[in-house]
Amino acid sequence: MTALLIAEHDNVTLKPATAQALAAALEMTDAVDILVAGSNSQSVAEQASRLAGVRGVYYADSPQLAQESPEVLASLVCSEAEGYSHILFVASSVGKSAMPRVAALLDVSPVSDIVAVKGPKTFVRGIYAGSLLATVEVSDPVVVATVRTTAFKAAGEGAEAPVEEVIAPDGYDGSRFVRFTEAKSDRPELVSARIVVAGGRGLIDEAGFKALEDFADSIGAAVGATRTAVDMGLCPNDWQVGQTGKMIAPDLYIGAGISGAIQHTAGIKDAKVVVAINNDPEAPIFEVADYGLVADGVQTLNQLREKIGTR
Ligand SMILES: Cc1cc2nc3c(=O)[nH]c(=O)nc-3n(C[C@H](O)[C@H](O)[C@H](O)COP(=O)(O)OP(=O)(O)OC[C@H]3O[C@@H](n4cnc5c(N)ncnc54)[C@H](O)[C@@H]3O)c2cc1C
Repeated sequence: MTALLIAEHDNVTLKPATAQALAAALEMTDAVDILVAGSNSQSVAEQASRLAGVRGVYYADSPQLAQESPEVLASLVCSEAEGYSHILFVASSVGKSAMPRVAALLDVSPVSDIVAVKGPKTFVRGIYAGSLLATVEVSDPVVVATVRTTAFKAAGEGAEAPVEEVIAPDGYDGSRFVRFTEAKSDRPELVSARIVVAGGRGLIDEAGFKALEDFADSIGAAVGATRTAVDMGLCPNDWQVGQTGKMIAPDLYIGAGISGAIQHTAGIKDAKVVVAINNDPEAPIFEVADYGLVADGVQTLNQLREKIGTR
């Protein structure tokens, strides 16, 4: 069995999620090839070729691939799919968008959010926002799936796999790239941060979120939030953690003024240590917390910054 893994990258750097998905792919199959789709992506392909366990790397360049058009990516993947028993994507916004298209084009059932591998075609995946785990066995000839990469330890480096260019498919007229807006921040990236400090409705207002940001900056943490906080306009939507936000796996997560709704905690399942600050002792977040503090959110964040902040 051989897998084709679609790389996650920004046309310059290969994202760590690719190495984590590779570890999952190597648990499923004997050999793994990586496909890098983008623009001027040869250097990314070379980075992928160094990942331990990779058999070969293919790359395709086209402006629409650089713009992350899922239609063009799906068409490329299908044109390269022959001979592979597994076609795997990272469960990112790109992967979640392209993977079902590939499954439909190949007429197989898609499998989303794999968190553990039990056999070549048997996987554990989260259902109901990750509150239950289902073990599923694929009976289709080809497995087309996304991998929840935070559940896997990244493959190391050390290989020197061959790199080859493949032809990118024609463009797709059904959608048009309008603009790319990058959220720039000096803080660590939320999905790969070692420490995440997150806030919810219980921080009340902008001043509460300023306290959250000041504390996060004082300890070099990334900042996250609940959907309610985003909807209240207290923070940008790329801070949202959870089922419809980002899945994170920090060593330490500190949540303040967050109730612990399942749609939020679905995003912190792989956090190693969870600390909750909430003034309601009955708040559900305490059920998933390793350490809990029944206290006012903003006041506690300010005290923590004074006591442990170093910047
Ligand atoms: C389909 C769907 C998808 C969703 N996806 C997401 C998602 O991806 N991410 C997400 O976060 N949510 C998501 N939600 C929303 C989710 O269900 C919850 O509504 C949301 O997470 C609650 O946010 P919250 O904890 O900030 O607010 P609340 O649930 O209102 O909780 C606020 C908490 O603050 C506490 N509090 C109040 N005052 C203080 C104080 N002074 N000090 C300390 N604590 C205080 C309260 O006790 C309470 O526990 C989704 C919902 C749906 C239906």
